[in-house]
Amino acid sequence: MNIKAFSKALYSSWYFYSPDRILLDCGEGCSIFLKQEIFAIEKIFLSHGHMDHIAGLLPFLCLRQSTKGDTQKGIEIYYPEGDRSIEILKETVSQMLGKFIRYPLSWTAINPGDEIELKKGRVMRVYQADHSIENPLIFVIEEKRRSLKEELKGTSGKQLAKLSDNEKFDYRTAKILAYSGDSMPVDPEVYKEVHTLIHECTFLQLKDRKYPIHSEIQEVFDLAKSANVQNLILCHISPRYPNSKIRDLIEKTKTHGINYSWIIPGKVNEIE
Ligand SMILES: [Zn+2]
Ligand SMILES: [Zn+2]
Repeated sequence: MNIKAFSKALYSSWYFYSPDRILLDCGEGCSIFLKQEIFAIEKIFLSHGHMDHIAGLLPFLCLRQSTKGDTQKGIEIYYPEGDRSIEILKETVSQMLGKFIRYPLSWTAINPGDEIELKKGRVMRVYQADHSIENPLIFVIEEKRRSLKEELKGTSGKQLAKLSDNEKFDYRTAKILAYSGDSMPVDPEVYKEVHTLIHECTFLQLKDRKYPIHSEIQEVFDLAKSANVQNLILCHISPRYPNSKIRDLIEKTKTHGINYSWIIPGKVNEIE
């Protein structure tokens, strides 16, 4: 299991990505379903302060102190600078749990362009989303990779040892995982060649959208094609579509041969 997630537009969204021990958003019910796995999480990234993305945070932080597990282990929270709801939530956590929580807890306000160090040479890069709130964010996990320069292939180890890393290697950045938060489609460059894109897909029919603040399915597939995404995971599907109709509605879309799946609303999904 790489991703354990719950996502239903308006109600709750959260995504536990185990390789980097991170939680993307923290909607209601997160700790109920993750149980002891809440102790595996070291960093929480909040995309924006709408209730369906943050309402699980207070119980999560409380349970990290009160339930069985490594209650000494710290948590780092990253959130969009200037988001008023999250500022209030931060203050509420401090007032309600300030004395109760004894593990290290940090809050860091972030902005598009920032990068936060993760494990094993990976970073979380922050981009601007397009949504109806101040400073909504997109998160992309990137990894610096190096490979031996083409012209040096076949060179002996002894010869290579004389060269510096810059002389020996070509460096490139690989995008591992991206999460759109709530957003209209943005510039495909943000998601260029990403291995897995978790993208919101609130509307499965364009006629259902009244305001341009959430993505519609064809836009998401078109974006994934332009960005040459390897795997697309649709999330944040509106509760107006019964689960039994989702497959049919997706199949009416031009999927451009992209490998895709979707987070079934209302249940915990485990994705490789
Ligand atoms: Zn939402
Ligand atoms: Zn939202």
